[in-house]
Parts: sequence; C-alpha cells; structure tokens
Amino acid sequence: MKTKEEIERLRQEIITVSLALLEQGLIVRTWGNISARIDDKHYLITPSGIKYEDLTPEMLPIVSVDDNSYVGEYKPSSESLVHSAIYSTRSDAEFIIHTHQVYATCVGALGKRRLKAELKEKKVVFPVAAYALPGTKELADNIKAASIKYAETRSIIMANHGAICFGHNAEDAFSEAIKLEVAARKYIFDICKTEISNDVEEGFSSKLEEGKIVYLRNDTPERVKIIHQTIYAKRPDVTYIFHNKSEAVMTISRRVNHMRPLLDDFAQIIGTSLRIPTAEGAPLTVKKNINAVFAYNDGAYCLGNTEDDAKAAAIVLDKGCIAHIAVMRFGEGRFISLYDCFKMNRNYRKNYSVLANSVK
Ligand SMILES: [Zn+2]
Repeated sequence: MKTKEEIERLRQEIITVSLALLEQGLIVRTWGNISARIDDKHYLITPSGIKYEDLTPEMLPIVSVDDNSYVGEYKPSSESLVHSAIYSTRSDAEFIIHTHQVYATCVGALGKRRLKAELKEKKVVFPVAAYALPGTKELADNIKAASIKYAETRSIIMANHGAICFGHNAEDAFSEAIKLEVAARKYIFDICKTEISNDVEEGFSSKLEEGKIVYLRNDTPERVKIIHQTIYAKRPDVTYIFHNKSEAVMTISRRVNHMRPLLDDFAQIIGTSLRIPTAEGAPLTVKKNINAVFAYNDGAYCLGNTEDDAKAAAIVLDKGCIAHIAVMRFGEGRFISLYDCFKMNRNYRKNYSVLANSVK
C-alpha cells in the first residue's frame, strides 16, 4: 500500500511520462493511456478523451483491478480493462504505458505471433497478442494470455492496434516502449529494404471560410484546386483539407489501387475501404465517411471539420500507409474484418463527433 505522498507523486509522474511520450512521438494527441499501481487491487490511470497537455494530477481516476469500477470525476480510459488484465497477472507491473507507437503497431499488422529481435547482443521476444476489438473483454483476455505465456517480457504488441509496455516504475516502462520501438523499426526497415519514415508532409491544404475555399498556399496549382473543389462539393461535412505528401502516402498513391484497414485507428478515422486512382487524371473517389482522398502520384487529401481533425487523419493515414507497405513487402498481413471495421467506424462517429477527441 502506498502512502498519500507516494500516490501524489505517482499522479505527477504519470503526467511527466505522458509528456515525455508525446515528445518521443510514442503517443500522439489523446491516443494511448498510462497507469500506475497503487496497491494489489487499484491503480491510477489517464482519463478518457483529455489531451495530455491539459491533464492535471487530480484528474486521474483510481480504478479497481477486480471489476473496473472507478473513483474520480473523470472517466478512466476505455482501455482500462487491458491495464487491469496486466495488473492482475503480473506482480512485476507497477507502471503501464499503452501506446500506438508507429513501428510496433505496424509489426502487429503482419499476422506474426511474435517479433524476435536482438538488442545490444541480447535476444528478445515480443509477443503479439491476438486481435479483438478495442475496449472489449476479449481484447483484455488476449493480452492477459500473452502476459502469462511470456512471463519474461514486459512489452506486448497488440495485433492491428498498438503496444502495451510495463515495468517496476515509470522509467522501466518508458524504456520498454523505446526498446520495442527500436526493434520494431529495424524489423520494418529490413522488410521494406528502406528506412521508411513516419511523417506528415504538407502539400496544398485548404479550408472553408463562410462557404468560400481558402487555399493555404498562394502557389496552389489549378489542377489541385479542382481536387479541393470536387471534395467540398461532394462532402458538405468537410471544412478543412490537409494535403499529405509524406513518403509513405506518396508511395501508396503511386502503387496501390485499394486499401483496407490494417489498423484500428485507420478504420475509425479514415474509413473502412479506400479506392486509389491508378493513372494520371483518373477520377477521384470521394465518399461519405471516408476521410482521405488519394490522387494518383500526388499523396492524399485528408478531410476533417476542423484543422485538428484533418491533421489527425493525416497522421493516422501515414501510419496506415507504412503498415500497408510493410505488408506488401512482407508478402502477408492480417487485415481487420470488414464487419469489425464497420463496427469501429460507426462507434467512433457516434461517440466522437470531432476527430480531435480520443481513440483508445
Ligand atoms: Zn489504443
């Protein structure tokens, strides 16, 4: 049992770690969550849907390992079942980080059961827990099974979703997440035979102001203006278009004609299925509830009803494209079933009207 002072310190520590994870790019926006054990049966966790920059220590609810009930003003993260699963099976877990870190998440889309790596001349194995929809008991059970089976490891990849890393304290858990990402990045680079970066590179974006299109760059070509006009005409819900020309998105825009979700956040934020034109001047596919429009060899136009929304779509799309490229090069992958994609997408739209809110 921790003293009141120790618990206060833990509250502060969770916030410090969340900001460090943001800085390292291991978590983005409100995605992911962090927790710390208080005693055998309770832990502190980040609340649902609050940006890490806005978090204060007293906002963190205390959750019960046994039944997931909580005490506090704010609702715990929707992935608290997964944290409870780890705390109930692993006495070495005092601090847990759930991330959507890019390369480990991409490894989790390859359909592999584990990632074997060598770090500092030491062999390590990172298990991939079987897929289940986010927030479900089935997902927590799958993580639990992996944490029992792989009692030596403190990092578990969650298929098509992210990773969960833990340790004796904050520093331990943080270094587990970094260790996993280093190994996963090397693996993905090896598969792709190139260092495929995770980035968002802005091309020609635009926004709607009082019903008029404002192009954010004066040198926006006529050809691109037509694309923006087409999108706004077909999607009255869109008021911001972020043009992403990152390396991964450009590669997909040249070589692929169809994308199905490999990652949960892609299904939630981008949509359930994407058509990509395969020749210069081929018609664009602009569809309801699909928040990215590819143009041949020109990246993708990411849609939102705020600037934040559109940028969130651009970030999620970039990761999804890296996963897609990795699967193409690897020769196999595990796509999320269309049924699960529809469920997640609907649920997301119902619960989060603005994309700036959380994906858990
Ligand atoms: Zn998550």
